[in-house]
Amino acid sequence: MHDFNYVNGKLYCEEVRIEKIAMEIGTPFYLYSYQTIFNHYNAFKKALKEIDPLICYAYKANSNSAICKIFARAGGGAEVVSGGELRQALEVGVSPEKIVFSGNGKTEKEIGFALKSNILMFDVDSEMELRLLNKVSHSLKKRAKVVLRVNPDLNPQTHPYLATGLKESKFGFDFNQALDGYKLARDLENIKVAGIHMHIGSQITSLKPFVEGLDKVISLIGELKKIGIATEYINVGGGLGIVYLDEEPPCLDNYARVVISKLSGLNIKGIFEPGRVLMGNAGILVSKVLYRKETAKKTFIVVDSGMNDFVRPAFYQAKHRIEPVVKKEEKEEVVDIVGPICESADFFARDKKFPRVETGELLSIFGAGAYGFSMASNYNFRCRPAEVLVSGENYFVIRQRETYEDLIKNEKMPDILET
Ligand SMILES: *Cc1c(COP(=O)(O)O)cnc(C)c1O
Repeated sequence: MHDFNYVNGKLYCEEVRIEKIAMEIGTPFYLYSYQTIFNHYNAFKKALKEIDPLICYAYKANSNSAICKIFARAGGGAEVVSGGELRQALEVGVSPEKIVFSGNGKTEKEIGFALKSNILMFDVDSEMELRLLNKVSHSLKKRAKVVLRVNPDLNPQTHPYLATGLKESKFGFDFNQALDGYKLARDLENIKVAGIHMHIGSQITSLKPFVEGLDKVISLIGELKKIGIATEYINVGGGLGIVYLDEEPPCLDNYARVVISKLSGLNIKGIFEPGRVLMGNAGILVSKVLYRKETAKKTFIVVDSGMNDFVRPAFYQAKHRIEPVVKKEEKEEVVDIVGPICESADFFARDKKFPRVETGELLSIFGAGAYGFSMASNYNFRCRPAEVLVSGENYFVIRQRETYEDLIKNEKMPDILET
């Protein structure tokens, strides 16, 4: 279902030859397929059709406005974790009653903005947040709809940085304290309890953690009923894993079957917050080979994108499929593919069997559509890459490559250094 394919050894995105884009706009750049994004969203929706899900795309996976607008146009909602993401969701036309606000550090200002925007609900992370939300709601004469994020205390068997439902995780109400949180929420005048939220981690490649999490959450719903709290929504979060290299994540239908079997009969609306599964394989990062360098121990391929552009390999030890954009019949060698950043963690692959490539050739890093640009930085005072969207035989630059002026535009020289 991914629209990145080789035709006669040349990589295309939908009907556009990627070499052509590189020639016209330079490298590096992120490249997304409209059709893939659209198909992924619709497949997700279709798999869960039976329970009429509310799908709130997780903005942090890729928050380019054009990408967000594709989901908005397709009827999707938004899961936002900051005032910036909330504003963006509203600007691209997501209706407020499809926006959920998560995160463990919402500021008073962000809460006020969200209340005034009449979003659907807050995924509340702590007792203190609940009290602040109540206070701000009171002053705005509103009643905030909330679900409490509970931490089901389970191991989603993913990278430690991607696990969010372990007992020691910073996220959510401790499972054993959740009932107290709900009692508080019930008694706060400007809070309306609407249900329960879980998000146990990301890049989860087995169904077991979802089953365990849902079972725990559903058992809590029974407890809530006993203290007079009705559950209108279960927010299942995101987290479904994708294939980067040789992972075997559950297919959508199996994921849906499990969720549907747990939710059906409860008469509770399901909310989903997929990010990676919609965007991950809808984008690639295209870079150019700058140098080859052979040392006593290694052969390095130095490319023009680095960990500042795409941090997943350095940050999560993530392994991505990498291929030349134009395939030639070259012998394979063992190489490290590295960026230009002054850090030893700046690599995209290590000891990888790879066809011999020379200066000027293009490489594609696959699976870069989610947590790619959204995690990019200006480290080493580098301009972040351009972003391009392909649809059919056309491509559109949806974010210009940064310039030196962009890098310095918010800097200020103090008077003492002006003379
Ligand atoms: C990051 C996040 C998501 C999206 O996770 P994916 O693994 O990209 O699907 C959903 N919900 C919450 C609360 C998140 O923090």
